[in-house]
Amino acid sequence: MIIVMKPGAPQSAVQSVAGVVRDKGLETHLSQGEQVTIIGVVGDKTRLNSQQLQAMPYVDRIVPITESYKLSNRKFHPQPTRVKVGNHEIGPDTLTIMAGPCAVETEEQLMTIARAVKKSGAQIVRGGAYKPRTSPYSFQGLEEEGLRYMAEAKKETGLATICEVISEAAIEAAAKYVDMIQIGARNMQNFQLLREAGRSKMPVLLKRGLAATIDEWLNAAEYIIAEGNPNVVLCERGIRTYETATRNTLDLSAVPVIREKSHLPIIVDPSHATGVAAYVPPLAKAGVACGADGLMIEVHNDPAHALSDGPQSLTFEQFGTLMSDLAPYIQLAERKLTL
Ligand code: PEP
Ligand code: MN
Repeated sequence: MIIVMKPGAPQSAVQSVAGVVRDKGLETHLSQGEQVTIIGVVGDKTRLNSQQLQAMPYVDRIVPITESYKLSNRKFHPQPTRVKVGNHEIGPDTLTIMAGPCAVETEEQLMTIARAVKKSGAQIVRGGAYKPRTSPYSFQGLEEEGLRYMAEAKKETGLATICEVISEAAIEAAAKYVDMIQIGARNMQNFQLLREAGRSKMPVLLKRGLAATIDEWLNAAEYIIAEGNPNVVLCERGIRTYETATRNTLDLSAVPVIREKSHLPIIVDPSHATGVAAYVPPLAKAGVACGADGLMIEVHNDPAHALSDGPQSLTFEQFGTLMSDLAPYIQLAERKLTL
């Protein structure tokens, strides 16, 4: 439930209400708006006496939250969350472009791609060092060596960096080298991994599971935030449907739904959604137009020979064209590429 305080309620009143809740063994989360403070309550509500709370000074109303996710719920935290990644901020004023290869293959490959995506206007370079491949015989990633190359790419270009993690050990390694970790679609309900990501306190990009509902996805985010890490960004990357013309079906309706239900930023990944480079630009534009806070785009120096996801990877030229073509959409969305 949330306790909505009256406009202009003094800190002392907020603290005494929160104190009564905490004395009963429940957690409180304050959300301070310009006018109104909201006290979010997590725990066993049956221990609370709602009438007593309602009668306390400056309490406006008590609203039950019926959804199972609380900390990721917009009702708990009406202002949109901003997530800092390196020097960049993902949130309502910016349009964040994460771009790079599916997998880090060599140091030279990553450097070449990082320079190219920076030149075209990306703020974050992506690259997989641990690849959760469908087949165990496909390239599995360079692991820590790949992370070291990511750190080099950051040093050379100044771009922030993101890398997928698939285990607790990978989170520990990633914390040494990159700015943000990614939990991939296949691990969206790996609850132990979500908890570890929460404990790491690193910014986390949480991709939507292949067949996850929006409710399940927000509950996955809840696992991370419940460990004390509010730095979560969601990523719609397509869901599995009966359609086979594209690798997945990009659920663009998830963007306005998430914006209504949650305060967390949401970005769109048209590369994994479609699996086809030619379909990436139109859906990237659609993602920005429907309110996404950013895009994740796979870019490769030589897509035909990429070790992973070549068919959906844009060349440098295609990525440069997309970035120029996105400019009017970014302007219409009243966002900036960098603050
Ligand atoms: C990726 O980003 O390289 C990836 C594997 O994505 P997803 O988890 O969305 O399939
Ligand atoms: Mn990929």
